Amino acid sequence: MVNSLKIENELQIELEKLIQDYGRCRELTVKWVPEMRQQRERESTSLFGDNCTMCGEVKDRTIYIYETELEECIHTLRHEFFEYLIDHELVGPYVSLYNKMFEGYEKAFQDTQYKRKEALIEILVEKEAKRRENERK
Ligand SMILES: [Zn+2]
Repeated sequence: MVNSLKIENELQIELEKLIQDYGRCRELTVKWVPEMRQQRERESTSLFGDNCTMCGEVKDRTIYIYETELEECIHTLRHEFFEYLIDHELVGPYVSLYNKMFEGYEKAFQDTQYKRKEALIEILVEKEAKRRENERK
């Protein structure tokens, strides 16, 4: 169990660092639940199609990490942190707008928005990884 304690600990440290560096999302906590991965994968496949692997998500201000390897856990934590930041700082006001649109149009619109947002978040995560590397030099 030494390894799982280490992952839990690293995730806590990483979240604290992100909160400090960005000065936001202080309400967030992180939970490492790799045992939930398969279940979430099955559920998300029906929502997003076959290629989807659920690595993590935010529910009730808790970031759940479903990955098993430390490096992927950290990547997922950063992804979910930025996603939460974007959803709350930028996307939030538009969600009520989506809700007023017709269902079909709404869904198509959200699908596109979702993919764009995911791509943007991955760029942010890459930049964050680079920033950390430079910090260590
Ligand atoms: Zn995402």
